[in-house]
Amino acid sequence: PQPNPQVGAAVKAADRKHVFHSWSAQELIDPLAVAGAEGSYFWDYEGNRYLDFTSGLVYTNIGYQHPKVVAAIQEQAGKMTTFAPAFAIESRSEAARLIAERTPGDLDKIFFTNAGADAVEHALRLARLHTGRPKVLSAYRSYHGGTQQAINATGDPRRWASDTGTAGVVRFWAPFLYRSRFYAETEEQECERALEHLESTIQFEGPQTIAAIILETVPGTAGIMLPPKGYLAGVRELCDRYGIVFILDEVMAGFGRTGKWFAADLYDVTPDLLTFAKGVNSGYVPLGGVAISSAIAETFAKRPYPGGLTYSGHPLACAAAVATINVMEEEGIIEHAAKLGSEVVEPALRDLAERHPSVGEVRGVGMFWALELVRDRSTREPLVPYNAAGEANAPMAAFGAAAKANGLWPFINMNRTHVVPALNITESEAKEGLSALDAALAVADEHVA
Ligand code: PLP
Repeated sequence: PQPNPQVGAAVKAADRKHVFHSWSAQELIDPLAVAGAEGSYFWDYEGNRYLDFTSGLVYTNIGYQHPKVVAAIQEQAGKMTTFAPAFAIESRSEAARLIAERTPGDLDKIFFTNAGADAVEHALRLARLHTGRPKVLSAYRSYHGGTQQAINATGDPRRWASDTGTAGVVRFWAPFLYRSRFYAETEEQECERALEHLESTIQFEGPQTIAAIILETVPGTAGIMLPPKGYLAGVRELCDRYGIVFILDEVMAGFGRTGKWFAADLYDVTPDLLTFAKGVNSGYVPLGGVAISSAIAETFAKRPYPGGLTYSGHPLACAAAVATINVMEEEGIIEHAAKLGSEVVEPALRDLAERHPSVGEVRGVGMFWALELVRDRSTREPLVPYNAAGEANAPMAAFGAAAKANGLWPFINMNRTHVVPALNITESEAKEGLSALDAALAVADEHVA
């Protein structure tokens, strides 16, 4: 595409004047004006092209502008752009069928929402109404969305400013061996102690007061910590023992990110409710939802569910989901992600970790990887402090700038960079990104103590 700096300047000027951005001090940000995107790349108006290792916000699982999904959206727009939620509509029924057939166990009813946060809102409401209990247990190092209840259930600093009205959310520590809260030295110890801690939390809170335990199957934004073998099965057992609804939030981990349709498939565990969004249609049109077990669906068989949305199961969003799921199936995108992840990305990241003293740990699966950057490998002191801003965050900012200067758009959260490209990134694109990452890590190494 031809550079067009004048248009870019106008886009930027109107943005700066009128767009109020998420999670930002409005005058301290400098958003890049993006002219277009295709596959794993996007470009600005100045003629700079970037390889996207972020999949947007970890949602464009099939890359940008997949022609078959764009065509399906166009076709649906010509046929029926929208229709109210109380009716049975072809694209909605078909999307629900395709999703229900892929979710684990008996999660066979789909309640559609507009995105991930409202999927979490409704999952929590379903759990409270189903059990008649008030409280929710959620993990530190988690993210569940930006609306009031979802942000309260979140275990990262984004919740602090909205911690009014947290009634009913109690947080616990989920397993994370690299920064163990349990003085564990092995995965087995971490698993056993994290389960013991969760059970004590349940007992001290009063099991009869707890409606739900919500966990990201693999925590995403918080750092892609794969739970140790046995942990999720252990949580399932605790939920069964105490009559608690088990919610797995797969908004980020679902729809192929881990090399399986759902991360729950990696652990052979079935929750009572599973939330999804993002990858369900690669975010081409906003869509999220909750997959509901037969027991919870039964609660609302004769009693109305007190909740809904104007755009629940929006036909255009559902048509995009149908096309996305079919494309993932036809093109073997999930198998590709699993194979490229284990045969190319993982070995390359482990090699980077050997050569760069700033890399403390590499962890992940499929196209879902995190590099934990540290000042000191032996103490594991993070490269920047928890929730650092401004000068304190300079080492990560320098790392990010170096990646961009090398044509790579990196995902950065606190002291970590995540490698979360589109699932259908090619091997040569992945290698190009990994080599830019290599160069950028040299900048992070300069800040090692
Ligand atoms: N849950 C998880 C695990 C997420 O990663 C996110 C978003 O990143 C959300 C919920 C919120 O989704 P949304 O931003 O679509 O509301």
